[in-house]
Amino acid sequence: MQAPLEPLAFTPILRRLVWGGRKLGTLLGKPIGEGEDYAESWELADYHDEVSVVRDGMYAGITLRDFVRKRPADLFGKARAGQEQFPLLVKLLDARENLSVQVHPDDALGRELANDSGKTEAWVVLHAEPGSVLYAGLKPGVDRRALERGIANGEVEPLLHRIEPKPGDCILVEAGTVHALGEGVVIAEFQQMSDATFRVFDWNRVGADGRPRELHVEKAMRCIDFDRGPVDPVVPVPQVLENGDVREPLAKCAYFELERWTLTAATEIGRDDRFTILMVLDGEARVRSPRGDLSFRRGETVLLPSSIGATMIYPVGRAVVLACQQP
Ligand SMILES: [Zn+2]
Repeated sequence: MQAPLEPLAFTPILRRLVWGGRKLGTLLGKPIGEGEDYAESWELADYHDEVSVVRDGMYAGITLRDFVRKRPADLFGKARAGQEQFPLLVKLLDARENLSVQVHPDDALGRELANDSGKTEAWVVLHAEPGSVLYAGLKPGVDRRALERGIANGEVEPLLHRIEPKPGDCILVEAGTVHALGEGVVIAEFQQMSDATFRVFDWNRVGADGRPRELHVEKAMRCIDFDRGPVDPVVPVPQVLENGDVREPLAKCAYFELERWTLTAATEIGRDDRFTILMVLDGEARVRSPRGDLSFRRGETVLLPSSIGATMIYPVGRAVVLACQQP
């Protein structure tokens, strides 16, 4: 596997969980089967047994982990080649029901409490049913005692900062932020490659066995940043190009930078010192590949290894594309 790398498209990994639905198929064209519980599509993953596999082309059947191990400089860029795992996880989520209220640790607490990295994540809303909500952060003045009391009384919702999401909203949920996805929301999520999650509250629900799901209140309390307060959607400052196309920085943190590009004309994308993840939010786009253009549409993800360097992306008509890189 020493030939030059090319733009890589991976087979989505579908995860079925009680809170999922069918919109990953109906809205985003993922290959779901029967059932009402398609919760997540992992678009790019290198996490324990869940590892993305190249879908077609010269590298069909090769895993993301194979590239990390055998072609780190070509994948990550020379200066970043020491990474032992692909650092970001990209998912699509369909919340047919509310997800539990939860918090993720930072890197130090992740190692200590979960033997995992920390988890900072960014959400981009793809679809929101009327009346749906997201929760990000605590209302001003909610301290540890108030939250503990709310958990004990089963009344946590009034303490959470509530957002009425609109398609296109981006919310950066840094480690330590209490959060939940509400029912009726479909999002794309870019995050650290980690599954360290502590459940704070589960809406007083019981599982199929009639018992409430386990909470992790003590660990959660250690992870929550009580100074963070409410977190609102990012207000992007658009950069309008000469031809009217638009670039909007959406989220920036120590782990990733996320931009949204609204394109009507071909433009250069990608860098030779880091990888670029592209996801189409609307329309269709193409990138050049040695064996013909690679085309991807709404909800589809393509990874440009660093060794490709800058390359052209061609919108088919108009396309809205997310671009994610390591800082
Ligand atoms: Zn989360």
